[in-house]
Formats: sequence, C-alpha cells, structure tokens
Amino acid sequence: MMNTTRVRWADLRPLEFVERLNECPIVYLPIGLCEPHGHVAALGMDMHAADAFCDAAARAYGGIVAPTQAYHIHETGYHARWLEDTVGEHNARMASIPPHVFCLQYLYQLRAFANAGFQSALVLTGHGGGNEHDLQAWGDAFAARFGMPIKVIMEFELAPGFPGDHAGRYEVSLLWHLKPELVDMSLLDRAQDPAAGGRLAQGENAGEASPEYGAAIYAKAVESLGAQVQALRERAAAATVTPRIDHAAVEALYAELRSAAQGWTTTHPRPGQHAVSDDSQWKPYEFGV
Ligand SMILES: [Zn+2]
Repeated sequence: MMNTTRVRWADLRPLEFVERLNECPIVYLPIGLCEPHGHVAALGMDMHAADAFCDAAARAYGGIVAPTQAYHIHETGYHARWLEDTVGEHNARMASIPPHVFCLQYLYQLRAFANAGFQSALVLTGHGGGNEHDLQAWGDAFAARFGMPIKVIMEFELAPGFPGDHAGRYEVSLLWHLKPELVDMSLLDRAQDPAAGGRLAQGENAGEASPEYGAAIYAKAVESLGAQVQALRERAAAATVTPRIDHAAVEALYAELRSAAQGWTTTHPRPGQHAVSDDSQWKPYEFGV
C-alpha cells in the first residue's frame, strides 16, 4: 500500500519510492534561502513556505518531494538596490548564490529528476521578485532539450486574494501558522532601532499578521496546487523524457544558457530602478553574472 505520510525522497525506501512514482510521476522541488525577514521572523521564511507547500501537495495529490534547494539567487541585479533600501549596510546574514551557480546546479537537479524516472517537475520558490522568470526560462530550455515539462510557481501566485509581500502581513502570518516558534511579535519595534540593525527588510504591515490569516493563505494555496498538479500531469502524459541524461549533455545546455546571461532577469536592475549607491556594500552585484 502506498505510503501517504512520508512524501520526501530522502525519507522513502526504494520500494516506497517506486510505488509513489508509479502512482504519480511528479517531483516537487522546494526552493528558498535565508535572508532577512525583519526582526519578528526567522531568516528561512521562504524555504519553510516552499517546503510546507510541496509537502502538502505531495500528500494531497501524489508525487515525491526532492531535497530542498536552500540557497537561492539574491544580491545580484534588481536585488542589489532592494537590499540597499531595506537592509542598508547592516549584515544581511544571507545564504545566497549568484545566478550562474544556481543555474548549473538547477540543471543537474532537473537531470537527477529525469534520470530517477520522473515525468515532470513542479518547482516551487518561496523567494520571488523576478528570479522565478529565470527559473522558468531555464526549465523551458531543459524541457525543450530533454522532454520533461517543468512548471515554476512563485508561492504568491497560489493564493489569489492574499497579496504577497516581504516580511509583512502575508509572510509573517504564513510563517506564524506553519512554524509558530519561529515568529516573535514582541520584537516588532526593533525595526525602528538602527542599533538593532534597522528594518532588516521587515514589512510595514508586519504588525497586522496573525496565525489565522496565515492558515487561510495556506489552505488557499494547497487548494490551488491541485489544479497545477493536474495540468502538469496532463502535459507530462504527452511528453517523452530522455531516459538517461549524461553530464556532457547538461554542460552543453548550461554553456548555451550562460552565453546569454546578460538577458537573465537576475543579472541587471529593473528598468527605471534607481542605481545602487557607489559606497553601498551591494554595489558590486548590481550587474552580476
Ligand atoms: Zn520571503
């Protein structure tokens, strides 16, 4: 009988893996990182959200959750000015990697999925703002080369009616619901204290957060994932995935993508975005590759 409680690749024995794979050959890749989410919330907010939604989707609709990708694209391009504005020159305590490093690892993750027998991948990122467009473009390039459909979803897309934010009412509520021990609202006013690190990207309306609001976001998002999984399964049914992808094939695709890196969303500021100050710690990353 199929194991419906353990849905993590890392937690399944080989027979259980095959049973779940045969039942629903979809893999979920949760992606997040550590970055400041104000004083009230833990640094790993985006990762915890991605983990929770992928686990819930696999339990409700089938499939297997891949090991979490817990380092993400930050600092570069449009991120740089945002960091100057919301974190300034404080230490961001951030676990991030540049886009080309992410891209190469991501292609190898997708290769691992195809080689393990999956027919499609649902990539769920808790960190958005533009990187999700690069993830989808790289996923589309992988699909065009190797046949496996890839759907990238930014978490905020899943709960219409609940406006996404950064460490504001939406995110703090969601984390409060998912992991109450990681939220401490008594620390809210530290955002006004430069000696405490300033805002550290805390949202203006973080004080309006509640676990009930977070529970409503979570319920809506899990419900939305049902249609996403169904759509992806239908695309996969019409696809033929390359049975064994080798390293050389991945490196060839990466070389092509890397040669067009200046066109990636994460390698330059948004149109019209203010330049990063010359003396800011974030200046070196403004046009990062
Ligand atoms: Zn976040």
